[in-house]
Amino acid sequence: MRKYRLLTPGPVPVPERIRRAMAGTLLHHRAPDFLPVFHEVRVGLQRVFGTERQVLLLASSGTGAMEAAVTNLTRPGDTAVVVRAGKFGDRWFELCRAYGVEALSVDVEWGRAVDPDELAAVLRAKRGVRAVFAQASETSTGVLHPMEPVARAVADNSEALLVVDGISAVGVHPLPMDAWGIDALLSGSQKSWQLPPGLAMIALSERAEAALERGGHARYYFDLRKELRGQPTGATAYSPALALIVGLAESLRMLFEDGLERSYARHAELAEMTRDGVRALGMALLAASAPSNACTAVRVPRQLDAGKLLSQLRDHHGVTLAGGQGQLSGKILRIGHMGDLDTYDMLAGLAALELTLLDFGVPIELGAGVHSALNRMRVGVSASAPQETEGRNPWRAS
Ligand SMILES: *Cc1c(COP(=O)(O)O)cnc(C)c1O
Repeated sequence: MRKYRLLTPGPVPVPERIRRAMAGTLLHHRAPDFLPVFHEVRVGLQRVFGTERQVLLLASSGTGAMEAAVTNLTRPGDTAVVVRAGKFGDRWFELCRAYGVEALSVDVEWGRAVDPDELAAVLRAKRGVRAVFAQASETSTGVLHPMEPVARAVADNSEALLVVDGISAVGVHPLPMDAWGIDALLSGSQKSWQLPPGLAMIALSERAEAALERGGHARYYFDLRKELRGQPTGATAYSPALALIVGLAESLRMLFEDGLERSYARHAELAEMTRDGVRALGMALLAASAPSNACTAVRVPRQLDAGKLLSQLRDHHGVTLAGGQGQLSGKILRIGHMGDLDTYDMLAGLAALELTLLDFGVPIELGAGVHSALNRMRVGVSASAPQETEGRNPWRAS
């Protein structure tokens, strides 16, 4: 059996240490033994979210936290502004529409980051915007939006709450919620947390918490008022995703053993070597100017069938990459950098990509991508200037 390599931006490979933790005896969530685990997770999450506010846990995929943000922080008839720069921006838009919230969109070409000035102009032109919904890292395009300036633009030009889908950003890029003035920050277990899907997280600023009291939409399962009251004492309103919380405790231990900075640096290293590698193969990055370190989106040459490329990678090389979503379907492939992955996994992914491209008749120089990625590994990400190592390598065949 070939080794199975999951290089997708969620779900991600789960480290053995976390799988073992989740396979242990499961506590009952009302039993006293569970309380210290739940408490440890809450405190650890505050550190990663950069907040002194509560980080609530919800038993759902990430989209559940997105829905909770909309139903708790807006009312029917409210106006919201949505940054639409990809599939997940569209999801904010669709959620608003589903709940009768008027959504004005700041449309951004897929592959680009939002311009905070453009957002500011939209907010100045429309009074009384209740909330701004955005992604920190738009996983469908591999773009990182500039959240600190976005937060400033929202605060300087409106009274709106800033709701940030940080599902693929928290733990990958620094996103200090309190320092930057983010009113709601969301994440999901199957991204940087290295867990299976099924656990969502959401933290609310003081202002956002006050907004809960003015009444949102009809809501029941995702009524955050109940969770805010119960979770400080370890009582989730409904059965929590127990195994995932036990896994999250282990994940946070691993994170803090290495340090949060190391986690940011590891994602940066994997992303940079991948970007160098695919560029050396003559492929273009979709996010040319603001790439996220959660995943790398690469344009697939027009004459290639992206679906067949992905199947061949999976069936012949055991490498699973993600394709494009929505309007990018068939046009890009996405290589994930989160989860139990290291630099050698990235090399394996690049090597498999090279062999597959050759099979499809793309005239690449075999090894060029791996070569470039190896050079990045050796030089490190601290040397962030484009590396020029060819001249120093006597072994390079030209
Ligand atoms: C993965 C992801 C989601 C959706 O999460 P689900 O867990 O599939 O509901 C939302 N937003 C972003 C930015 C994501 O990366």
